[in-house]
Amino acid sequence: MAQADIALIGLAVMGQNLIMNMNDHGFVVCAYNRTVSKVHDFLQNEAKGSKVIGAESLEDMVSKLKKPRRIILLVKAGQAVDDFIDKLVPLLEAGDIIIDGGNSEYRDTTRRCKSLKEKGLLFVGSGVSGGEEGARYGPSLMPGGHKEAWPHIKDIFQSIAAKVGTGEPCCDWVGDEGAGHFVKMVHNGIEYGDMQLICEAYHLMKDVLGMDHDEMAQAFDSWNKTELDSFLIEITANILKYKDADGKHLLPKIRDSAGQKGTGKWTAISALEYGTPVTLIGEAVFARCLSSLKDERVQASRSLSGPQGVKFSGNKAAFLEDIRKALYASKIISYAQGFMLLRQAATEFGWSLNYGAIALMWRGGCIIRSVFLGKIKEAFDRDAGLQNLLLDNFFSNAVQDCQESWRRTVSVGVQHGIPMPCFTTALSFYDGYRHDMLPANLLQAQRDYFGAHTYELLSNPGHFIHTNWTGHG
Ligand code: NAP
Repeated sequence: MAQADIALIGLAVMGQNLIMNMNDHGFVVCAYNRTVSKVHDFLQNEAKGSKVIGAESLEDMVSKLKKPRRIILLVKAGQAVDDFIDKLVPLLEAGDIIIDGGNSEYRDTTRRCKSLKEKGLLFVGSGVSGGEEGARYGPSLMPGGHKEAWPHIKDIFQSIAAKVGTGEPCCDWVGDEGAGHFVKMVHNGIEYGDMQLICEAYHLMKDVLGMDHDEMAQAFDSWNKTELDSFLIEITANILKYKDADGKHLLPKIRDSAGQKGTGKWTAISALEYGTPVTLIGEAVFARCLSSLKDERVQASRSLSGPQGVKFSGNKAAFLEDIRKALYASKIISYAQGFMLLRQAATEFGWSLNYGAIALMWRGGCIIRSVFLGKIKEAFDRDAGLQNLLLDNFFSNAVQDCQESWRRTVSVGVQHGIPMPCFTTALSFYDGYRHDMLPANLLQAQRDYFGAHTYELLSNPGHFIHTNWTGHG
């Protein structure tokens, strides 16, 4: 009998938690998994006593669904998604909805949208953020694809999503094709940037100011009561406090070699592809790459020296505040760059993106959740067509207020030989963006000199000319 509101395929950590979340909100969910024994285990353990039902096969699952059928895939991104779609298509009818909640590449989602439209089915690619905890108690959800599907899934999606403020859900329709997965990808890229910025602040606190773990934890705790109030600052304070079984701090024992799963890299690749200067996320990805050369760095540390005999002699409390402001200003740049990439993708693909709604989707439930995102939402509320976050009064004033501290932090860090790829690239971007004249006039002349690539004169834009720079025929 058709009794289930929705089906979910993929009973790994994300799928199980999302099912229990939907169950808590009153929806009847039918659970299925490639390895069917996991359905039995799930019903007998985590889902015991709930309204969740199981399916023995895809046919069984489809027969238990109310129409139009709604099916969420939460399986390993890539081939597994295509394999399940291929198996589902012959079992479904026009108007049924397949939703991919995995970390799929946005171009795959666009391809799947096109191919399923030809078959009369609706497809949604939804970013899901917040990890296990988010999936269970309220994730940030970023759905995109066939908009005709949205009225049929809106209630479920907005019920289970994280809530902020006066109960606003961190979920709204993002846009056509792979827009939802593109927004999720940029979210992950921004997460890379936020994490690296915090790591650079930690490095400066530790190696310039010589702060111990408790002092650093206290600093992050107090920063969490300022504009930097966010999940990542909060967990950083907790990580700094954490002691191992031997009573010593755990953090310094952790090997300084960062892993990555690829979404930060995808964001940086997209930035290069669409010619958008998302420098901070790029540097954050490269910082992880450099960290992973641990053995090579250990060797290099024996022969390459940094500045000698430099010791911090200023006011420690004042410099700590400088670092906080440098972090805040750099973070503003990172989000400005992220939204520039979204804007460029919207132009590229003809998507109509609601930037304020995207900021609200990231405001709660996900890893980059922060009070700051509420300010971004307000900026887009003031001006939906805002070209760049840096041009909003709130953010331009905030950067102005941080500017001296930011420059001092970078100068002192450089003098002490501290690597700060994200602090420095953010400042360089700011200085580049605010200059009406950059040295690219020389670059154009060089290109024309060796390659006859032509150039425009300031006095006659749009008209390209070539000069014979050597005077030779
Ligand atoms: P996962 O480890 O990425 O995937 C495991 C699930 O995929 C299992 O149900 C498995 O079935 C199925 N699967 C794997 N290969 C398959 C194949 N070739 N054919 C059919 N099914 C296959 O699980 P997860 O960590 O819960 O993540 C699910 C999705 O959400 C992924 O796309 C992930 O990137 C995304 N995501 C994860 C997180 C997170 O924090 N973990 C956060 C956001 C998004 P069997 O049991 O039969 O092997």
